[in-house]
Amino acid sequence: MRFYSTRNRTHVVDFPHAIFAGLAPDGGLYFPDTEPDLRELILGAPEDLSFARLAGELLHGILPEHFDTATALDVARRAFPFAPRLRPLTDQISLLELFHGPSCAFKDFGAAFLATAMEHFLAGENRRAVILTATSGDTGSAVARAFHRRPGIEVVILYPSGRVSPLQERQLTTVGDNVTALEVRGSFDDCQRMVKSAFLDTGLTRRVPLTSANSINIGRLIPQAFYYVDAFIRLRSRMASDFLFCVPSGNFGNLTAGVLAWRWGLPVSGFIAATNVNDVVPHYLVSGDFIPRQSLETVANAMDVGDPSNFERMLEIFGADHQDMHAMIGGETATDDEILETMRRVHQVAGVFLDPHTAAGVCAAERYLAADGASDASVITLATAHPAKFPEVVERATGERPDLPPRLAEVMDRPKQAIPVEPCADALAEYLVEQYGEEVPQ
Ligand SMILES: *Cc1c(COP(=O)(O)O)cnc(C)c1O
Repeated sequence: MRFYSTRNRTHVVDFPHAIFAGLAPDGGLYFPDTEPDLRELILGAPEDLSFARLAGELLHGILPEHFDTATALDVARRAFPFAPRLRPLTDQISLLELFHGPSCAFKDFGAAFLATAMEHFLAGENRRAVILTATSGDTGSAVARAFHRRPGIEVVILYPSGRVSPLQERQLTTVGDNVTALEVRGSFDDCQRMVKSAFLDTGLTRRVPLTSANSINIGRLIPQAFYYVDAFIRLRSRMASDFLFCVPSGNFGNLTAGVLAWRWGLPVSGFIAATNVNDVVPHYLVSGDFIPRQSLETVANAMDVGDPSNFERMLEIFGADHQDMHAMIGGETATDDEILETMRRVHQVAGVFLDPHTAAGVCAAERYLAADGASDASVITLATAHPAKFPEVVERATGERPDLPPRLAEVMDRPKQAIPVEPCADALAEYLVEQYGEEVPQ
């Protein structure tokens, strides 16, 4: 498998190149040029296969030229000392809990795999990588934890000041060592724009070996396909033949990974794209018009994205055919009130705390099932973050605070270390050259 730019099909690179480059030089996103057929592997996998083993087999099936069977298994074992868990919520809705990793959010899967793969490819080579990433909350903490103390790798994380939860801020500003947090006086969209323009600034990239760890990095997307398969092999004997995944979405990396798993052989009937009021994609699915706009602040802030970066890949998968995309993906939008009401009700009825992002997903799944013609389906809703990461919102909805897992409790005791920056690409470029600039070879 090789990877081409969504903006230029003749620009083709191999997997290591794609993960270290992050974004293609023309600003496009890397996209697989072949579709591996994993059907046999998926349908033949035993229900009790561990997640790490399954991930190893899938990795080898997808990228055999870089990961022979033994290497794939070794990389998967090192990347995934944690695993997804399934929790039934109602007769028809299950939660796929993706928050049992180090930062308590699903982004741990992509970040841990990317960090392990980069370490694997850098081993023995005399070069460095500077990871530059924008976060609306959870990316930063997952990346910080995944790359902490990896030899040859520096990490710079941009986050929007005052727009991430206090706990998220602690998670990204207390890691230290090779991990630096930049506190941007602006929105997440500003952070994302700054990062994009840094990668397109050839004067800068010649001097600083920049690499992205955002959801635009194909090395984060591919491992996210693994847990869709994992959920299927564990639930297959208990599910309706008609089953869907419901995915709380912001930049649409998670959903795109699920759709790739389907393209590669996962027998799923469809997907539900769940958003908060930043509903650019649900609007597109219904109307065929994609209209990016400024993001609005919501209680599910990791989904506050007005111009979702992975939409380009979704278009690629469906050959830009709006009808084809809509046949496979339905959209649902939840307001803050609906998110809070879902959190309150699920806690009251099932005794389960939901984080606000997962609640947007459950709200979407319920609405989908209540609509005509869908009543027999099973819906696996991705639980994208641990509820304890959002104690203020959970308390507002339920009147109670969930217990902090020990790995979250301990970051609250450490001092915040962040460097304030203006929301401006030049300021970022200057900082990067100052800190990490190398001599330009003559
Ligand atoms: C990042 C994030 C999302 C959105 O995921 P995308 O891949 O950007 O669509 C949803 N929920 C949580 C908790 C997140 O951190």
